[in-house]
Amino acid sequence: VSAREVLDAVMERIRKVEDKVKSFVTITEDLAYDKASWCDEKAEKGAIKGIPYALKDIICTKGVKTTCSSRMLANFVPFYDATVARLLDEQHGLLVGKLNMDEFAMGSSTEQSAFFPTRNPWDLERVPGGSSGGSASAVAADEVFFTLGTDTGGSIRQPASFCGIVGMKPTYGRVSRWGVVAFASSLDQVGVFAKDVEDCALIMNIICGKDPLDSTSVDLEVPDFTSFLHTDIKGMKIAYPREYFGKGVDEDIKAAVMKALKHYEEMGAVVEEVSLPHSEYALPAYYIIAPAEASANLARFDGVRYGLRDFKADNVIDMFSNTRKEGFGPEVKRRIMLGTYALSSGYYDAYYLKALKVRRLIYNDFARVFEDFDIIISPTTPTVAFKLGEQSDPLTLYMNDILTVPVNMAGLPGMSIPCGFKEGLPIGMQIIGKAFDEGTMLKAAYAFE
Ligand code: GLN
Repeated sequence: VSAREVLDAVMERIRKVEDKVKSFVTITEDLAYDKASWCDEKAEKGAIKGIPYALKDIICTKGVKTTCSSRMLANFVPFYDATVARLLDEQHGLLVGKLNMDEFAMGSSTEQSAFFPTRNPWDLERVPGGSSGGSASAVAADEVFFTLGTDTGGSIRQPASFCGIVGMKPTYGRVSRWGVVAFASSLDQVGVFAKDVEDCALIMNIICGKDPLDSTSVDLEVPDFTSFLHTDIKGMKIAYPREYFGKGVDEDIKAAVMKALKHYEEMGAVVEEVSLPHSEYALPAYYIIAPAEASANLARFDGVRYGLRDFKADNVIDMFSNTRKEGFGPEVKRRIMLGTYALSSGYYDAYYLKALKVRRLIYNDFARVFEDFDIIISPTTPTVAFKLGEQSDPLTLYMNDILTVPVNMAGLPGMSIPCGFKEGLPIGMQIIGKAFDEGTMLKAAYAFE
């Protein structure tokens, strides 16, 4: 089939389901058709030539609006591509649009989008998770073949889990963050949503690697991730942390993951319980560190440099504060206030510095387990997808991240793959790997699939 025919089918599917699911903030149909015609005419090769995909609307795209689902950037059109956007374009994929998210990636349900909530394709009354909810729903609803998202505290793995698909957060430093709007720079990482593990490995091959434009990207050889996809996992050492199976985690989810662990044992893996003793401190420390970094990063939205500006004010201070009052939604404001407080003189040592120390303890917990084990397996989320409006207070919503946040704090790679259902809703299993060992995670995921 030609690229145009594939795109026709994809556009037809989008027209059919998009009204209900609402994955997209922007659809770039014309651009995609231009590129499809080019693909059909030219002999040039590309790893994803003619394959339609879409990007979370936090990833800058040249000439295409990049809103972060915020009023602040509702009309912002970048004049450059993020490195990851460029890499996919160079392999001749077809960008069909930009995907809805929680405003500036702060949230776990995509209800914090300033525009509209996205729905879970498995049950339209339920959320797709977040913050990369549109990236997950677009793949789950077969609107595109794969998408990219970002994961600061779980925003790829949690929505992948809620939507019953594969979601991978690579090691911090594996993928360039250049051109990706910053939320919490020491935690943010770009990653993949796909229907299966093989597609995930193929896209990882394209997006990983050192980028001179991002000094935190790491200059390590990028393996061919598909070379890890075989089913022989005999002797693989798998740990499951008891703290991740505690109270607060749905019994049916625990049972589904335990069943998966049994299956690994039958395939020849060695499975043992371990302890990550500082797990319970990860969430409170995250909600100091992430808002602190966010408060600094979001200072740039001042009405002068990007996006929205209040033109009515007659002095610069009013312009600045009116713009921020109008432009940011309630969750973003909450984070900025929390972060500013935690960083202010007199409180820095008590909160921010303390949180950094906790972060080190969490890292050490993982390092100790990885001396003896190849991967760690746990549930991805404490519950399956919840109903829109059901988790309306911020603290309840923050609990969604309890099993995913430690991985970001330690900078490790993590992924979520489907491992069962509860009352018709998908359950996700989290696989955590050693730093820069995404290959072993992919191998374990592929063997289970
Ligand atoms: N839900 C978490 C938060 O609101 C994680 C967000 C993310 O990973 N981008 O901060």
